[in-house]
Amino acid sequence: MSNDYDVIVIGAGPAGYHAAIRCAQLGFKTACINKMRDKDNKPVLGGTCLNWGCIPSKALLDASHKFHEAQHDFADMGINTGKVSADVPKMIARKQEVVDGLTGGVAALFQGNGVTSLEGSGRLHANCQVAFTPHDGPEQMLQAAHVILAPGSVPVDIPPAPLEDGLIVDSTGALEFTAAPGRLGVIGAGVIGLELGSVWNRLGSDVTVLEALDEFLPMADSRISRDAQRMLKGQGLDIRLGARVTATEVKGRGNKKTVTVTYQDKDGEQQSEFDKLIVAVGRRPYTEGLLAPDSGVNLDERGFLYVNDLCATDAPNVYAVGDVVRGPMLAHKGMEEGVMVAERIAGHKPLVNYDTVPSVIYTHPEIAWVGKTEQQLKADGENYNVGSFPFAANGRALAANETEGMVKLIADADSDRILGVHVLGPQASEMIAQAVISMEFSASAEDLGLIMFAHPTLSEGVHEAALGAAGHAIHMVNRKKPGKK
Ligand code: FAD
Ligand code: AMP
Repeated sequence: MSNDYDVIVIGAGPAGYHAAIRCAQLGFKTACINKMRDKDNKPVLGGTCLNWGCIPSKALLDASHKFHEAQHDFADMGINTGKVSADVPKMIARKQEVVDGLTGGVAALFQGNGVTSLEGSGRLHANCQVAFTPHDGPEQMLQAAHVILAPGSVPVDIPPAPLEDGLIVDSTGALEFTAAPGRLGVIGAGVIGLELGSVWNRLGSDVTVLEALDEFLPMADSRISRDAQRMLKGQGLDIRLGARVTATEVKGRGNKKTVTVTYQDKDGEQQSEFDKLIVAVGRRPYTEGLLAPDSGVNLDERGFLYVNDLCATDAPNVYAVGDVVRGPMLAHKGMEEGVMVAERIAGHKPLVNYDTVPSVIYTHPEIAWVGKTEQQLKADGENYNVGSFPFAANGRALAANETEGMVKLIADADSDRILGVHVLGPQASEMIAQAVISMEFSASAEDLGLIMFAHPTLSEGVHEAALGAAGHAIHMVNRKKPGKK
């Protein structure tokens, strides 16, 4: 039987659309099947990231941050504004314009690269056969030489907090409030809970974050997470750790509805009442309807599609990438997997380096890291040196009135190879790329210390932290005694 396509990609989120475009660039006849529709039922490309994730959340984070600055920081810099007010519906509409521009951009990229965009759902059968059901038509069977599965993830819901339209919402609903709720509860102090909590806190809500774990951001370096927790609390986020939500009760009627949340903490059962509640307790792989019984693809014990290091599933010529497979649920991780698989199909030999996936939390200040935390290295019994540099000693940070936070760099004590970099500060998301590049090239802290950085820049904090690992940061009094090399 002849192939309809060289490659069929299922899912047009960042993992899938990167895979599809790269396949087409490599000369493969490629189709991408995608079933997502927007709230007006219009088919949309770009997946969670563009429609309900990375991009809309950043549009609201950036807008709400500017509002916060205008209210609280401009006067310090000699700018008087008078009373500043937020037009939330306009912010939401602008967010949607940004989203629409980017999803339309993916459609244009598909067209420009010759990717056939198929609107509807895909289901994998044996031998790379894909059943495609268009949104408005009967199922048809397509044959491909290779299939790439990229169906993404969906929010986890928990039995104690069933969603209720506009009142108890997941991250998607939290991007659509048309006014800042008076009292806003957030379940989960993970990345999404903190970002969305920050948006609405800046826009005027009283935000309480309930987190079951006793530790704040345990995946981040503990020095950074401790400082970040203090700063976020200072901004008004009431972060309650060791608070496990066990029940919710909706009270009242119509637009007077409130939600009472019951949670357990070290003192026993507690209750809090909110006007809206965001459930941000994580995401799970989405595989509904994806696999026919004869597909040959297996799931792991947590429901992710099982793949090897090269993203190959157990079925011949079938790959899976993005949130639906092991590893961090991050857009850039999925993008690189998508490109790797496309190039592998073409016979090239790229790899994804999972040791250098950067993590970012877009609060203000931002939190970003790559590599090992100090607590991990300590637990592993590694020998390491730490260099840290506070933004309070950085000229550009002072000029910009953005002095909170630090850069912390950890290097192997013997080889000086950089093992981890942790940034809490303005534009940490941009600065972390320097660390990723350094680590990809197996740089030592000394290498980074010998490189010239433009002055004055926040990035000089990275430079100074690298010098600090060897004990000779210039703009800090160092641990090593003068005269010592
Ligand atoms: P998805 O983006 O989920 O896309 C999967 C696509 O496949 C969807 O369009 C879906 O409809 C389609 N699909 C599924 N099954 C089928 C099927 N059977 N047939 C046809 N189509 C199908 N990550 C970051 O890196 N940075 C961030 O700042 C960031 N912020 C986030 C903020 C929020 C609020 C959320 C919710 C997520 C955020 N993420 C962020 C995570 C990021 O969105 C995901 O990691 C990313 O979207 C995963 O990409 P993906 O391509 O694997 O899947
Ligand atoms: P993340 O997986 O990073 O999105 O974070 C989700 C957070 O939600 C985790 O830190 C969980 O500990 C937290 N969480 C999960 N269930 C509950 C619950 N019932 N009550 C409070 N926090 C929870």
